[in-house]
Amino acid sequence: MSEEDIITGEESRSPVSFIEQIIIDDLGEGKNGGRVHTRFPPEPNGYLHIGHAKAICLDFGMAEKYGGKCNLRFDDTNPVKEEVEYIESIKEDIRWLGFDWEDREYYASDYFGKLFDFAIDLIKRGLAYVDDQPAEVISAQKGTPAQSGTESPYRNRPVGENLDLFERMNRGDFEEGSRVLRARIDMTSPNMHMRDPIIYRIIKSSHHRTGEKWKVYPMYDFAHGQSDYFEGITHSLCTLEFEVHRPLYDWLIDQLKTGEYRPRQIEFNRLNLTYTVMSKRKLLELVQDGKVSGWDDPRMPTLCGLRRRGYTPESIRKFIDLIGYTKYEAINDISLLEHAVRDDLNLRAPRVFGVLNPLKVVITNYPENMVEEVDLINNPEDETMGSRKVPFSRDLYIEQDDFMEDPPHKFFRLSPGSEVRLKGAYIIKCTGYTKDENGRIIEVLCTYDPHTRSGGHLSGKKVKGTLHWVSAAHALDAEVRLYDRLFDHEDPSGQKEDDYRKFLNPDSLRILRGCKVEPSLKTAMHLDKFQFQRLGYFCIDYDSTPDHLVFNRTVGLKDSWAKMNK
Ligand code: ATP
Ligand code: MG
Repeated sequence: MSEEDIITGEESRSPVSFIEQIIIDDLGEGKNGGRVHTRFPPEPNGYLHIGHAKAICLDFGMAEKYGGKCNLRFDDTNPVKEEVEYIESIKEDIRWLGFDWEDREYYASDYFGKLFDFAIDLIKRGLAYVDDQPAEVISAQKGTPAQSGTESPYRNRPVGENLDLFERMNRGDFEEGSRVLRARIDMTSPNMHMRDPIIYRIIKSSHHRTGEKWKVYPMYDFAHGQSDYFEGITHSLCTLEFEVHRPLYDWLIDQLKTGEYRPRQIEFNRLNLTYTVMSKRKLLELVQDGKVSGWDDPRMPTLCGLRRRGYTPESIRKFIDLIGYTKYEAINDISLLEHAVRDDLNLRAPRVFGVLNPLKVVITNYPENMVEEVDLINNPEDETMGSRKVPFSRDLYIEQDDFMEDPPHKFFRLSPGSEVRLKGAYIIKCTGYTKDENGRIIEVLCTYDPHTRSGGHLSGKKVKGTLHWVSAAHALDAEVRLYDRLFDHEDPSGQKEDDYRKFLNPDSLRILRGCKVEPSLKTAMHLDKFQFQRLGYFCIDYDSTPDHLVFNRTVGLKDSWAKMNK
């Protein structure tokens, strides 16, 4: 992938996507009696990722906007890879994004009976046959795009024999892989998918919904278009790789349909993100190989991972809106996603004080047992969020890198002799510091000026630096997990060395223990989100308890995307 292929943002955006325009035109022409009916068709073989969110926002979004409906349909045609756990997670994630399929939860397996009948019908019409050849032979006979395929010796099998064999395949008389049912279309077609595609195979595993009932299962290509048809889908929106399958889907619908109605398939580009792998197979491998802690590891591009990382549904929807839908493949800059969550959290996350790498500060002229409550605004972007009291006392913690013994020019933080404001409280002046036997600074000594309290009438004195802080006696201990990109290559899936694992970033997780946060965080709940002032956005992890707070850093404050696109 070259630099030019990376889309940094809004250049792909237009007020109405080409898909929406098609829907508007179809409605204008009175097609489908003015109905808009879409579906989101996940295969329950993994957790949803942010790529799926792009499809979900379109499928549900278009239905919502044009007074239509969107079905949730599980494409459960492969009993081997599918699990009930995935079904539950998929439903949870769609709801979390803010969409509702009401009572329309369907399964491709609901249609196994109808699909089987359709297959029988095709056989009777001479449009399908049982092929006894092994998969490799069938595949070799397919030819190449430049060269016609070779007809199977079983292609002209009599209808009666095909019917008998297909029924027996489904009774379990034959081994897996020993026979398949193929559509009888055209071995010379320039479209490889039309060269007598396999439509049914033998699988003897139990299915999560139909149990042992079937021994033959429809291929995805045989189930998908027909399921759309059975459900009355008007606009079947899918990703670009299905464009070449469309003639096959159309051919099948031609054989099936009885009236004017047919679903219209429209393809759009997949979402790819820099520094990210998006295929479910690879994500499953990362989980199985223990490269991440699970599907919801906060470094994963899964919706549950992003949720745990502190992303809001609004931020994801905003991002999807920004990138838009096109007809060409590209890769989107992950910093745009980070920009979207930063923008959203800026409005909704209360500000708090958290110190990641604490350094003790003693205010030597502050009375030893005095505690003052300073009033701090929760969110300057939203005054309805009010304010809170934060305890201030003689012993505090600040960030280690907010103090330098021998600072460079223009270091506006704390250093010997310098003055800074402690945010919301006083101006302090550094009078000294102590080191341990290894020369590490362990304590900074300061004096405060009692007339400089924020909000007080003498607070007008100006200093250049403002630091966040916590009161040592009141602060809570916390563990903070800092995440970086899971891969250190921009396009880990698209490289010559075809192993994306080679590009795993060894520093994608750093755990800080002994961090100090303000006491108001005691009652925070899982997934509550905060801005640690001057540091970034953080949320409470599922591992957190009131006695052992655990935070995930969602993103830092620095917005590389906004900077780049200024
Ligand atoms: P993967 O390749 O990650 O395994 P998939 O396409 O096999 O994904 P499905 O469960 O079949 O996953 O996808 C359900 C729907 O989501 C499909 O309509 C598919 O086109 C869409 N989808 C999947 N991945 C993306 C993506 N990266 N961008 C946009 N849409 C996607
Ligand atoms: Mg798929």
